[in-house]
Amino acid sequence: MQIAIDEAREGMEHNHGGPFGAIIVKDGKIISRAHNRVLVTNDPTAHAEVLAIRQASEVLDKFDLSDCEIYTSSQPCPMCLAAIYWARITKVYFGTNKEDVAAIGFDDSLFYKFIRGDADKSTLEIINIDRKECLELLKEWDEKTDKEMY
Ligand SMILES: [Zn+2]
Repeated sequence: MQIAIDEAREGMEHNHGGPFGAIIVKDGKIISRAHNRVLVTNDPTAHAEVLAIRQASEVLDKFDLSDCEIYTSSQPCPMCLAAIYWARITKVYFGTNKEDVAAIGFDDSLFYKFIRGDADKSTLEIINIDRKECLELLKEWDEKTDKEMY
């Protein structure tokens, strides 16, 4: 965890983003380390966990990180949690919790509310259109003989 904290501090001191760092470990060895880079990249998805996952996947040359663990200085937000699930990581160690982070202005409680179905609907409109046309893509994928599932 100290390395994730060091990453977070480095990013914060260089104004790359918020005070968040993460590392990914496999068999006791650090595969990747990253800090939040939202400000320096203008990428709202450049959270430490997502960047650490991208880097680990590149280093290990695979998208399945089920043999890895992630250490993150703060509890993963819903986006990062989803990325962790997509990466098949099975263990997350986190430092501060979502309430600690909200107290300094990084409040992701709206996302949790939205996932639970409790959010004010005016915050985000989600409209289902052209399902039939889009469904065709799924059918084509399903029938594809050389697909690789992930
Ligand atoms: Zn996040």
